[in-house]
Amino acid sequence: MTHELLNKAPAGGSHPSPESLHRRLLPWYRRQRRRLPWRGAGDPYRVWVSEVMLQQTQVATVTPFYQRFIDRFPTIARLARARAPDVLAAWSGLGYYRRARNLHAAARLVAREHAGRIPADPVRFGRLPGVGRYTVGAVLSIAFDLPLPVLDGNVARVLSRLYALPASIREPKGARALWRLAGTLVPMRRAGDWNQALMELGATVCLPRGPRCPACPVRALCRARALERVEVLPPPAPRRRTVTVKRAVALIERDGRLLMVRREGTLLDGMWEPPGVELERRASARAALGRALKKLGVTARLEPTGRRVRHRITHRAIEVEVWRGVEGAHAPGARVRGARFVGPRARGLALTALARKLQS
Ligand code: SF4
Repeated sequence: MTHELLNKAPAGGSHPSPESLHRRLLPWYRRQRRRLPWRGAGDPYRVWVSEVMLQQTQVATVTPFYQRFIDRFPTIARLARARAPDVLAAWSGLGYYRRARNLHAAARLVAREHAGRIPADPVRFGRLPGVGRYTVGAVLSIAFDLPLPVLDGNVARVLSRLYALPASIREPKGARALWRLAGTLVPMRRAGDWNQALMELGATVCLPRGPRCPACPVRALCRARALERVEVLPPPAPRRRTVTVKRAVALIERDGRLLMVRREGTLLDGMWEPPGVELERRASARAALGRALKKLGVTARLEPTGRRVRHRITHRAIEVEVWRGVEGAHAPGARVRGARFVGPRARGLALTALARKLQS
């Protein structure tokens, strides 16, 4: 193990060998692993769905969504045949919708170009939309037992501490060092169990704050513990600056249903929420919202509600002014261009998280 960052680790004692870690961690994983609905199925499609859902989302949040999604699309063929709005609707509430769009596009490619079978080849699998290095390692090691590493936040933290490696996964140099280290540790057999053991240790024992070192199966090998550096490893990632954005939305009701429009743009493309507009500095919300409604072909008198909703999408903190729109000249029952009135349960429609907050 000779990479640059590892050489900078404080001296004293030796780094744990891969074999010594395998001997302790694999039996611990067999005994202690949480029973999760996607574990043990051995079905690459289900492993793939779970791994995509688990990116940036906690296990407890994912579990009910995973179950519903699999009930709806039990095979990759069913997902490939599904309509995009139905896939987004099944994903609705889980966030990061690009993941669902990519998964759907990838399922269609698997059906068209791989005879409906997920390719067990890292290069071919890695060419599918949304499949990065992590997904390749996780799916192919768990479903096909290929000796490929994984690196996510949990694994990065465990490795940084086990090897007293001052590397952050959020920095290119740190990520490269951690990927190299992860690659040296993967066993030739049971790679999937090994990767899941590292993830499980990070999720349940080697926690970001207050790691449970006395309960850790590899505590005797841990360099950070020996050097009393657990609390400072891994080093904090540089913070991404939060951008504050102001938005105004109009709630327009007709017969107990709310007007929703389909959003377009990279993050929320294809999702539905009440019509709104991002406000320039010092812009009049009433005027800007009025123009946005006019484009939709809606005539409504706007009244302030005084309600403000705070909302966050990745690094954007969004402050939303909520207005009420009272329909005027609009003929009852007439269609509104590119929009539709939606009842409180909005079945089958992919709503943004903001739309859900506004409905509550
Ligand atoms: S001993 Fe503590 S810091 Fe080291 S791997 Fe185990 S839980 Fe993490």
